[in-house]
Amino acid sequence: MGKAYDVAVIGAGSVGVPAALALARAGLSVLVIDEMASPGQLSNKKAIGGIRATHSDFGKIRVCQRSIEIFKGWKEAEGDEIGWLSNGYSYPAYSADMEKKLKDLMQVQHGFGLNIRWVLPDEYNELVPGISMKGLRGSTFSPEDGSASPLLAINAFYFKSLAAGAEYRFGEKVTGLPRQGGRIQAVVTDRGEYACAEVINAAGNSAQAVSRLAGLDVPVEPDNHEGAITEPVKPFFGPMVVDIRPEPGSANYYFYQNHEGQVVFCITPDPPILGVHPESTSVFFPQVARRMVQLYPRLASLRVRRSWRGQYPMTPDGFPIVGRAATVENYIHAVGMCGQGFMLGPGLGELLARIVTRRQTADDVRTLGSFLPGRAFSGIEALK
Ligand SMILES: Cc1cc2nc3c(=O)[nH]c(=O)nc-3n(C[C@H](O)[C@H](O)[C@H](O)COP(=O)(O)OP(=O)(O)OC[C@H]3O[C@@H](n4cnc5c(N)ncnc54)[C@H](O)[C@@H]3O)c2cc1C
Repeated sequence: MGKAYDVAVIGAGSVGVPAALALARAGLSVLVIDEMASPGQLSNKKAIGGIRATHSDFGKIRVCQRSIEIFKGWKEAEGDEIGWLSNGYSYPAYSADMEKKLKDLMQVQHGFGLNIRWVLPDEYNELVPGISMKGLRGSTFSPEDGSASPLLAINAFYFKSLAAGAEYRFGEKVTGLPRQGGRIQAVVTDRGEYACAEVINAAGNSAQAVSRLAGLDVPVEPDNHEGAITEPVKPFFGPMVVDIRPEPGSANYYFYQNHEGQVVFCITPDPPILGVHPESTSVFFPQVARRMVQLYPRLASLRVRRSWRGQYPMTPDGFPIVGRAATVENYIHAVGMCGQGFMLGPGLGELLARIVTRRQTADDVRTLGSFLPGRAFSGIEALK
């Protein structure tokens, strides 16, 4: 074993790379290990780039509020283009039941101080010109939410983390986390062994497999989702549109126009398709295109450039699992990001640095209460 690191991060993805940046900037020596050839090659590059703080629970809200500050201010503070757009999020309602559900949730969100309001159909038609007005009762609109490019963002975080002193080993798979009593002794890979004081599991889809190396168990299961992107066209609508009406085969779908004018979209299969199935299907396009064009006929003439399939690292209740392991004192969980790991990443990275340096604030303690590793996993997040 060579150099001993303050922290080893397993996984250079949506969580591991911004965590490495925050840890290195906190003055710690950091080693990030990933079995892929470069950063962000698993779930991170499958994300469509939506970023919102308008959740239903304190923890996700606080982490994403901080993430939004980081994404939004990145270009000015750090100089890199990451495709940030303050385009907002919207959840249109086409039934009284849905309207009530969204308005009830808005009250909770107002309680957390979030900027979200109800817009009437005519105003929504200005935000999303040409949206189907048939049965439209209005929509939520949260103008401070936004979007950014997961590819540009992780690249920017990666290079800034290198500049801050973080080190990376790519093409190395973590295969062992030998323990002595309540401590991990080292991180063992298929190519070497690294001494470190603390270990962070940010292994995404492989959260469970990596946890087991430390003798721990986390209920994280990959859940397949497909996405696609169109050719670029002039900007013609504003916010992310999330249609939460379930239909046979799909629970919801969402789309927005990114900083380059491309419409990016994905759908949530129902029932969920668990496991890791990287290949695209012939089901996705007909299913999502029909729903999107019914809702927003102007999308019909757009040409789709490419599609892909990835996974949400899901937990049973839709909340991440973050915090120190109860039985292994130098092991920190940062897994189970579900469909929100890209938006949680930068805020969570800073929180992880405060966990490692034991500088948690009262807000952090409350946030971590939502993400407890040992919880019962019995609830369900309202907008998971
Ligand atoms: C179609 C689609 C759309 C999405 N849209 C959004 C969105 O709009 N907004 C949003 O916030 N999120 C979105 N997501 C979800 C988001 O992509 C994930 O939540 C997020 O990327 C998970 O981050 P992570 O760091 O946990 O995992 P990853 O980014 O996958 O990183 C984990 C890393 O760990 C490495 N690893 C695993 N095991 C080992 C090992 N044993 N040794 C070494 N390395 C290992 C992997 O190689 C990988 O690079 C979307 C996902 C999909 C599939």
